[in-house]
Amino acid sequence: MLSYCRNGAAKWTKSTQLLVLPFRRSKSSAPASKLTAAEEDSQNVVGSDVRSSATGGTPFDKLNLEFDSPEEAYKSKSFTEILRALAVFKLCQFDILVNKNKEILKLSRRLLGKRIFNNVMQATFYGHFVAGADQPSIQPMITKLESFGVGAILDYGVEEDIPHSEAVVAEMESCVSEADKKDPDIHNEKFKAYPQFADRRKDVSSARTYFYKDEHKCDQNLQTLLQCVDASGASSENGFAAVKLTALGRPQLLLNLSEVLTKTRNLFVQFAGTLGNLKDRKLTKEQFEAQLQAMGIITRDNSGDWFTWMDYDQDGKIDLLEWEALLQPNHRLHKIFKIPNFKTGKLEPLLISLPAEEETQMKSMLHRINKLAKRAEEKNVRLMIDAEQSYFQPAISRLTIEMMRKFNKKKPVIFNTYQCYLKEAFNNLTVDMTLAKREGFYFGAKLVRGAYMDQERKRASEIGYEDPINPNYDSTDAMYHQCLGYILKKIQSTGGINVMVASHNEDTVRRAVELMNELGIGPKENLVYFGQLLGMCDQVSFPLGQAGYSVYKYVPYGPVEEVLPYLSRRALENRGMLKGVEKERSMLWTEVKRRTAHRS
Ligand SMILES: Cc1cc2nc3c(=O)[nH]c(=O)nc-3n(C[C@H](O)[C@H](O)[C@H](O)COP(=O)(O)OP(=O)(O)OC[C@H]3O[C@@H](n4cnc5c(N)ncnc54)[C@H](O)[C@@H]3O)c2cc1C
Repeated sequence: MLSYCRNGAAKWTKSTQLLVLPFRRSKSSAPASKLTAAEEDSQNVVGSDVRSSATGGTPFDKLNLEFDSPEEAYKSKSFTEILRALAVFKLCQFDILVNKNKEILKLSRRLLGKRIFNNVMQATFYGHFVAGADQPSIQPMITKLESFGVGAILDYGVEEDIPHSEAVVAEMESCVSEADKKDPDIHNEKFKAYPQFADRRKDVSSARTYFYKDEHKCDQNLQTLLQCVDASGASSENGFAAVKLTALGRPQLLLNLSEVLTKTRNLFVQFAGTLGNLKDRKLTKEQFEAQLQAMGIITRDNSGDWFTWMDYDQDGKIDLLEWEALLQPNHRLHKIFKIPNFKTGKLEPLLISLPAEEETQMKSMLHRINKLAKRAEEKNVRLMIDAEQSYFQPAISRLTIEMMRKFNKKKPVIFNTYQCYLKEAFNNLTVDMTLAKREGFYFGAKLVRGAYMDQERKRASEIGYEDPINPNYDSTDAMYHQCLGYILKKIQSTGGINVMVASHNEDTVRRAVELMNELGIGPKENLVYFGQLLGMCDQVSFPLGQAGYSVYKYVPYGPVEEVLPYLSRRALENRGMLKGVEKERSMLWTEVKRRTAHRS
């Protein structure tokens, strides 16, 4: 078992220390002949900074936590890029353009023809939100970001724009098992598919959605993700690649696994009670056997030896981690363990055996996930596993933890995502951190608030199960800061942990920076990262990067026509008079005026 200390974690970062300096070196630089005029313009801006650093200028800027300096925010941008950003944010103000953006894009493509349409997109939305079409064309953008201390989380932005009716059919077919058809009542309401919620794109603007077609399509998605890992490895020495596990397998498998995991955990809570933090709750032999007797699973004379099997550390008590270990494939116990179905009143096996074809699909999905993680390890790229809907998330999280167990032994390669809008976020995070510590693997986490709130709420209310989301914004905010505080304190006290604060909320970023300061976690220790999307929130990302913090942009790439759904979602997210967007627009104007005055 590995033992952790902060020095241990820092030791790993030593070899990459250079990379967190504000002016990072990338593996390959862009050939000058491939740069556009705008890129050359911006390279000049980059060049002057790199030179001042190389010749002994101040290596880090002091961080202004108000994030209100246009000069700091847009240092990396050429004048043309600032005007383009302003034009894009202005266009997002027009409701008609935002609401009807898909139709307008399609019509424009038809009227203008491919070449002119692509040029117009390059001069507006595509140029602002997307890095380029492929690895060579995104290189100048990555080099430029790195020269300002900002890393990249590559995200292949291509998504299929299938019609609503097709999405519903695809989802309904891929979320039902042959086994379910015999006994449709076997599943809990939350873990079934419903036609009215089958199009998972509805009410979600900030996340991509994959629909299952067949196993071949999952293999193709794997190839795309492998290329994304390769591109990240080739573009920088310390990159990330973003992955959604719904791209790699049949969603029904994720639904089933999520259900089993949820039932297992609920049963532990039913047995062990609700007092205290979940990670600290313990179940004694007496409690355990009394519950099993009450459920009619065992009798007084025939208690079996289950408790001893499950009590891994033989301390006379079972905690949640020991309890959940019964789901390990090598643990035969899950086959005989039955739990009550409150609807039918019958005892049912915890795991439903899958028909042969679905078992093969499950194996293929695990194989794909494994292949991706292995490639990431080989290419020195970290994998950021995105969080998705709450009825898939227990399975996504569990598979991610399994990957961490295997690939995070020497350094954090795999990062899980925790959505703080979930009521269970703190429990989920702390239980996983305890497991990582106990088993001695590095723990990597990305903290977000969560992208599926409206859809989750509607589904829970219409289908009739408990809303998984915190009751209001303030409780989500409090949950985020509770998780952040806990993880930063653990970084300081035990080490072996890396976290990404993925948020556009300035207050959250400010708190993280202040807490790092209080706890003595230096920006250059490379333990705490910040994450924002390309083309948004530059007033936070660039000052952080310039001040020596590890900050990353989610960098989507892909051919113009194939990233249109992504662009349409970005337009929706930046619409109207949102506070954050208003601030960015006003800062961009101030910078235009400042540079114009400077020139004249
Ligand atoms: C780099 C990066 C990676 C991301 N990865 C993921 C991911 O893997 N999975 C994912 O789900 N999302 C992801 N997101 C999106 C993220 O979850 C948020 O939707 C988005 O960032 C807005 O949250 P914020 O903290 O930036 O801003 P804020 O404006 O402070 O927060 C808005 C968020 O607060 C929550 N909220 C708003 N109103 C309420 C309410 N009434 N009750 C309860 N909660 C409320 C919602 O989650 C909403 O999205 C990512 C975002 C970034 C920047």
